[in-house]
Amino acid sequence: MKNIRRRWVLTGVAMALGAGMTAAHAEFPDKPVTLIVPFAAGGPSDKIARDLGEALRKKLNQTVIVENVGGAGGTLGTARVAKAPPDGYTLLVRHIGFATAPSLYRKLPYKGVDDFACLGLINEAPSTLIGKPTLPARTFDELRKYIAADPGRLNLAHAGVGSASQLCGLMLQAAMKTTITSVPYKGTGPAMTDLMGGQVDLMCEQATNAVPQIEGGKVKAYAVTSAQRMTLPALANLPTLAESGLKDFSVTVWHGLYAPKDTPAPVLRKLNDALKAALKDPDLIKRSEALGITVITDGRVEPAGHRHFVETEVARWKKVIEASGSYAD
Ligand code: ASP
Repeated sequence: MKNIRRRWVLTGVAMALGAGMTAAHAEFPDKPVTLIVPFAAGGPSDKIARDLGEALRKKLNQTVIVENVGGAGGTLGTARVAKAPPDGYTLLVRHIGFATAPSLYRKLPYKGVDDFACLGLINEAPSTLIGKPTLPARTFDELRKYIAADPGRLNLAHAGVGSASQLCGLMLQAAMKTTITSVPYKGTGPAMTDLMGGQVDLMCEQATNAVPQIEGGKVKAYAVTSAQRMTLPALANLPTLAESGLKDFSVTVWHGLYAPKDTPAPVLRKLNDALKAALKDPDLIKRSEALGITVITDGRVEPAGHRHFVETEVARWKKVIEASGSYAD
């Protein structure tokens, strides 16, 4: 009898292991999960991580903490997660810079996208070209003429080398065939504060952070970077940059969720299930749509679809960055 029971217990353990599930994984998460945001508080990455964290908390039934680790265009916070224990308790919320940094930086403080397991794409949003409230130009056309008359008189804030705002600003300068002095910050949060205060002049920033400031009249808005005009009331009157003469101009910023590579498969599955459920959360969808963000519902919410998308983006940006010849140290 004793032997039979022992055999049953062993068979049960073997079956559980066969399915990749140990007792520890079955209990995951039994302590708070931390989402690392590689930019300062108050920016789009921070906002997206906080909204996602709230939705994940409900699905995982566990506290979700957001920690801001800004600096070096998001690469410092990314390295923090690459080096974290691969147990599912330290995750990364990272935007398009995840795919551009490996080509942009001559030396990264982590190996690259292979240091991570893709958990699913979260969302995508266009950017907006915005300016300090006292800028004399009222439309994109006026702004363009104002810059052309004296390119040195305006500067452009961004969230560091490799940030989405820097990429958008670089593409804008290339399309306008001009050079504008750039002012780097540790994230959009502090950059936006200075833009509203008039310490810097322009920024190419995601709708996520721009919409509330446009609605509040705290910044001037000139254009959206999406291929089509946006229907959101705050953005509806804005032209696209493409229709304003910058042929084919289109920038969309996406965010994904990542775990360190070697995180056990059952933990990754639980996190992906929680992410998919979180992206269906009506609160999250409502908050996102109000800021011009589209929550992902296609195959890119699955780890394989997300990885395929990231690899495509890495290859696309590698070509763009190599052609531009501008690298960061
Ligand atoms: N939006 C920023 C960027 O330009 C980063 C942030 O979310 O603060 O990359």
